[in-house]
Amino acid sequence: MTATHTTTADSARSGLRFIIIGAGMSGILSAIKLREAGLDFTIYEKADRLGGTWRENTYAGITCDVPSHFYSFSFALNPDWSRQFSPGAEIQAYFEDVAHRYKIDEDIQYGKAVTGAAFENGRWQIELADGSTDVGDFLIAATGVLHHPAYPAIEGLDEFEGAAFHSARWDHDVSLAGKRVGLIGTGSSAIQITSAVIDEVQRLSVFQRTAQWVMPVPNSDFSDEERAAFRRNPESMQKLRDEVNRSFTEGFANVLGDAESPVMHAIHDACVANLENSVKDPGLREKLRPNYRAACKRLIMSGDFYDAIQRPNASLVTEGIERVEKSGLRTRDGKLHELDVLILATGFRVDQFVRPMNVTGRGGVVLDELWKGGPFAYMAIMVPEFPNLFMLNGPNSPVGNFSLIEVAELQFQYVMRMVDQVRSGSCRAISPSREAMERFDIERRKAAETTIWNTGCNSWYLDARGLPTAWPFTFDRFRKEMGRPRFDDHDMR
Ligand code: NAP
Repeated sequence: MTATHTTTADSARSGLRFIIIGAGMSGILSAIKLREAGLDFTIYEKADRLGGTWRENTYAGITCDVPSHFYSFSFALNPDWSRQFSPGAEIQAYFEDVAHRYKIDEDIQYGKAVTGAAFENGRWQIELADGSTDVGDFLIAATGVLHHPAYPAIEGLDEFEGAAFHSARWDHDVSLAGKRVGLIGTGSSAIQITSAVIDEVQRLSVFQRTAQWVMPVPNSDFSDEERAAFRRNPESMQKLRDEVNRSFTEGFANVLGDAESPVMHAIHDACVANLENSVKDPGLREKLRPNYRAACKRLIMSGDFYDAIQRPNASLVTEGIERVEKSGLRTRDGKLHELDVLILATGFRVDQFVRPMNVTGRGGVVLDELWKGGPFAYMAIMVPEFPNLFMLNGPNSPVGNFSLIEVAELQFQYVMRMVDQVRSGSCRAISPSREAMERFDIERRKAAETTIWNTGCNSWYLDARGLPTAWPFTFDRFRKEMGRPRFDDHDMR
């Protein structure tokens, strides 16, 4: 079976309606692409502002560690990025600007949380928290991967008398200047926070449960001349985006599935050399040395973390946390670390995906029940018995140190090929067959065994049974699958 393309005029006449949940990066992308195709859509956003992760995460030092010219929509390149890796506020402003320029901001319904979606009588019936309802032919869950903050189960957290907040719920009313600050975690967020606040605080105590490998990546500014040159010659931005895309694909995303590849070993060696060359004190160096392979956890990209953690007002606490008390944090050695502010850079509950929405598919199949062993999706986009439901950056998507914009754009190509089946009149509802899902899942699980994420560390990449959930194949295969859907794997009615 082959996909049939219809013209924009055909589709405008089709009366098909899309409901997009979430106005973050992939919701904005979906709206722009649907508008281009002349298709009707509504975007529901539960917050009062677009931007998703970049709206929610405003912690000190927030930066995207994917180069900005690659972390941009391919159709909306930006000559004005200030740095190689630009700060979060600039990325948020970029999304707001793109949404405005493409006039999709007017179509976002803010303060509208979707609570339920059910496929009934061949269409998606939507329920919102305010009691309103809607109906659409297609549902796009652009609800994000890392959205629900994970709070650590540490005894006494409520008893702390200073200010305490999660990195994704940064309290801008709290000044850190001259304060004794405790930071729990050493993930990508915590590492950026450490470098950003060290000059300001009286003392920073970083509570490390697991050491992290750090890839030395300097973050240089784009000069005024460079930015002017990008404006004069937009092809140079395209060229740069293509180059970064290629080097991230070949130098990383294509080899994550083969832990023994020379590239993965070279990345490890570069991280070891960074540690050896950057950290002077042998005791501190050993505390910072992970006992697992580089890139097993998400690789930290930082040109300044080792410098920050060696400052006289920084301390790395590796003793386990016993409990939180009124005046600070007590470690298992009995020591009380007195603190004014406690920052929880403890990550996200990644298994949530589209939840807590109640999603019910054909024949009353409940997504929560189907996913009780962990979320999964055929080709990381669709689920059997949930026709015309598409997830962007959903379960099993490629997530490791790559541009999720590139991932979402490729996924959206796939979505449009599926939609074309309905637009052309081949069917009204399309979903992967159960057999295809099972086949894909068996192959995915097998491939997951040889990935770098499965080499003996704990991370949010792993499911409850300890198996990596992200796309385990090469990124080239992902591109190919997205560009050429296997229509025979789908149930079309
Ligand atoms: P994370 O990578 O999940 O790190 C959470 C940290 O908190 C880990 O160091 C973890 O230790 C620690 N932790 C959790 N519970 C703890 C407890 N009870 N006691 C002590 N320590 C505890 O979270 P994140 O840093 O927010 O990053 C999450 C993801 O967001 C990243 O992997 C990345 O995909 C994305 N991100 C991207 C960027 C970017 O620049 N593109 C920046 C920030 C975040 P263990 O390691 O021992 O579990």
